[in-house]
Amino acid sequence: MPRTCVVTGAASGIGAATKRILEERGNKAIGVDIQSTNVIADLSTKQGRLDAAAKAVEAAGGSVDAVIACAGLAHPIAKTVSVNYFGMTEFLNALVPVLAKSSSPRVALISSMASLMPNDADLVTAMCVEDDEEKAVARAQQLVDIGEGMEQLIYGSTKRAISRWVRRESPKPQWAGAGIPLNAVGPGIVRTPMTAEMIATAEARAGLDQVVPMPLNYYLEPEQVAYLLIWLTSEENTHLCGQTIYIDGGSDAVLRGDNIWELAES
Ligand code: NAD
Repeated sequence: MPRTCVVTGAASGIGAATKRILEERGNKAIGVDIQSTNVIADLSTKQGRLDAAAKAVEAAGGSVDAVIACAGLAHPIAKTVSVNYFGMTEFLNALVPVLAKSSSPRVALISSMASLMPNDADLVTAMCVEDDEEKAVARAQQLVDIGEGMEQLIYGSTKRAISRWVRRESPKPQWAGAGIPLNAVGPGIVRTPMTAEMIATAEARAGLDQVVPMPLNYYLEPEQVAYLLIWLTSEENTHLCGQTIYIDGGSDAVLRGDNIWELAES
């Protein structure tokens, strides 16, 4: 059965690959992005998110089966908080009432392997515990102002917060209770415009390999993440709830090792 899916970040990279593959398979895919797609919207503002959701539903003809949230920034700036965290959570919350009317609603979004990296605890708390955008943006700006590498904690903090949000929200009545699996993917390094500069030279790649080791098949192409996002939002996914699936060539297994259940047992 063809499905109707909304894909954010559809103008580039993983979002563009996801939209294209969905369409090749006979589905209807409505792109949302700040540039060159069906619905042009700025997910960094509250109004932009609400407008984006309303226009996406209109473009979809009133019914949506799945939402795949890919739009994101990797810049070490305060705006990254607004796009990566609130640009996903508020956009998705706005679409829940429409999704709940589908016979097989699904949601997937993109976290990152960076969710496992060092982060700023105050920033993470302002996002996924306090849900306070103003406070989160102010804390991110503080990190930028302090400098000395502190601004590099912003991206990982947004991804830690999004994975925690997914885990906390997914079992609730509005998600699991409404039959909506809510999950995330956590990619390692994917060859997209976001990472082009980071992996441009052998020296840069060698440095990155220390931080993000990928023994299985090395860097990803955007399509390889898209296939997982599409499966997570397909009718075949009936019971995954609140997971971040690390599609990372082995980074998580290398870096966290085999004893990640220790916390739960103590
Ligand atoms: P990309 O830069 O190719 O695509 C990101 C898209 O988001 C762009 O089309 C951009 O226009 C859109 N976007 C940015 N700000 C926006 C805004 N304010 N409103 C609406 N749209 C906006 O990057 P990508 O690599 O495809 O990244 C997609 C997602 O995957 C991001 O959330 C990123 O953090 C995540 N991710 C990427 C990698 C990687 O290695 N590329 C790894 C892990 C996670």
